[in-house]
Amino acid sequence: MIIDCHGHYTTEPADLKRFRAEQTKAVEKRTTPPSRASLKISDDEIRDSLEGAQLKLQRERGTDVTIFSPRASGMGHHIGDESVSLEWSQVCNDLIHRVCTLYPQNFIGVCQLPQSPGVPPQHSAAELERCISELGFVGCNLNPDPSGGYFNSPPLTDKWWYPFFEKMVELDVPAMIHVSGCCNPAMHTTGSYYLNADTMAFMQLILSDLFKDFPTLKLIIPHGGGAVPFHWGRFRGLALNNGRPELIEIIKNNIFFDTCVYHQPGINLLTEVVPVDNILFASEMVGAVKGIDPKTGFNFDDTKRYVDHAPKLSDADRHKIFEGNARKVFSRLKTRAAMKAAV
Ligand SMILES: [Zn+2]
Repeated sequence: MIIDCHGHYTTEPADLKRFRAEQTKAVEKRTTPPSRASLKISDDEIRDSLEGAQLKLQRERGTDVTIFSPRASGMGHHIGDESVSLEWSQVCNDLIHRVCTLYPQNFIGVCQLPQSPGVPPQHSAAELERCISELGFVGCNLNPDPSGGYFNSPPLTDKWWYPFFEKMVELDVPAMIHVSGCCNPAMHTTGSYYLNADTMAFMQLILSDLFKDFPTLKLIIPHGGGAVPFHWGRFRGLALNNGRPELIEIIKNNIFFDTCVYHQPGINLLTEVVPVDNILFASEMVGAVKGIDPKTGFNFDDTKRYVDHAPKLSDADRHKIFEGNARKVFSRLKTRAAMKAAV
């Protein structure tokens, strides 16, 4: 089985976008926001939105199941206050649940959190619990910068985040560290902001005792870890200079990287530098980087090909990257498999 651990619902039905546009406008104009009851999305619209996109690509590329979350750039935690973020997160998470109910073999849910700038992360614990316990989701996307590009939250290793980590540990779910759309004009959302946040998170984590406090906490740094594999020597040197252990000891049970790196040399480097046990297969399709690479004739985000062709990997390594590691990190996949068997 091939598990793609990073996919977003980027082909949402039009009425979801209408709802969000009206909600955003209501925030700006201080008028009444749209009601949830006004949302009209049929099962057929959901099917249509996926059949020609994610499902088609799963079939063409030979991947089996996608761990699926709301559009990351659409989380927009900086828009409105905590109540706006909660309403929007619940709408988006409920829609992911409908996708997973319609296609239980193809999609497994991961939730968006109702974070908001300056609001303690423990306020997101209730929505996490709802999604895991009631909707059968297996993880969450945790935004290290709800400001949308100004990086003014405490580092992930600060006690500010601890109550939320406690809830994750209690529920036994991992988080993908994932920012949202950028409102700082100095950064392009998917080109620089995402990768900057990934790199920032790693540096915070390796200088801290977070995993001494939470030995079972699991965090996934997406997009191949940002600058981490390429600058592994810098990070390793900084860790050692600061009296920290070797990076492979720090990350061992707690930090994982995905394969959303859109060229062969990048995947070759990732799989050479980062221990295979800490790499999860992912493509982030559809949407982060659209289109076909004119040099290869294949889509940039067809990342399975790069893993297939990475020269350092054995078949056993590939099995870990494609399936085994995801089952380890998303421990609730076990429960999901059992649920499916029961159905
Ligand atoms: Zn993403």
